[in-house]
Amino acid sequence: MSTRRGFPVVVAAPSGTGKTTVCRAVVARDPDIVFSISHTTRPMRRGELDGVDYHFVSPEQFDRGVAAGDFLEWATYNGNRYGTSWRAIDAPLGDGHDVLLEIEVQGARQVRAKRDDARFIFLLPPSLATLRERLEGRGSDASEVIAARLELARRELEDGPRFDYAVVNDDLDACVAEVLAILSAERDGETASLRARHVPGPAIEALLRA
Ligand code: 5GP
Repeated sequence: MSTRRGFPVVVAAPSGTGKTTVCRAVVARDPDIVFSISHTTRPMRRGELDGVDYHFVSPEQFDRGVAAGDFLEWATYNGNRYGTSWRAIDAPLGDGHDVLLEIEVQGARQVRAKRDDARFIFLLPPSLATLRERLEGRGSDASEVIAARLELARRELEDGPRFDYAVVNDDLDACVAEVLAILSAERDGETASLRARHVPGPAIEALLRA
């Protein structure tokens, strides 16, 4: 049995970066990290399962959790609330697993303030043009909706320089491999070269300039 205590790994990204796909692939490939299942007040989407993708709760249940101090962090995003319960991370960490928190940037800030042991990875789209294409999706949304999403993504990008690593999600497999390498380096305490390769500030500046 492992005697290592796990650490939380926060993964955030501007919306449209493909964060969920990357996170799911990382957890599927690395047996030492588990996914933190968040609570949310948003309605369940087709194909989602309660207790697997999220714990789907009512606004009243969410409020009670907040009042009871059940959440490490929580935030409102697109009119719905999302939060990471202490329970979602404490048990796996105690078992020696790392825990992946796929959350938005306001929540990441709260984790940074509360958890010295957390690591922070920011995913980036290859370019703003790609981001726009991904946000446009199948073209069914009104242009104001797309413009608002792009604006939100730009604001989310502003938080990126506070993260430990920035990884570009150009090619899914390469991005996943890079995140797995970061996790492995963090476990071994040999992080210097990966941190140097993935400094967020310059990567984000380059993205905004391009
Ligand atoms: P979606 O509704 O598309 O599943 O998620 C919307 C946003 O909420 C995404 O950026 C996602 O990462 C974020 N999110 C999911 N769970 C949590 C959470 O527990 N806390 C916070 N702060 N954000 C979350």
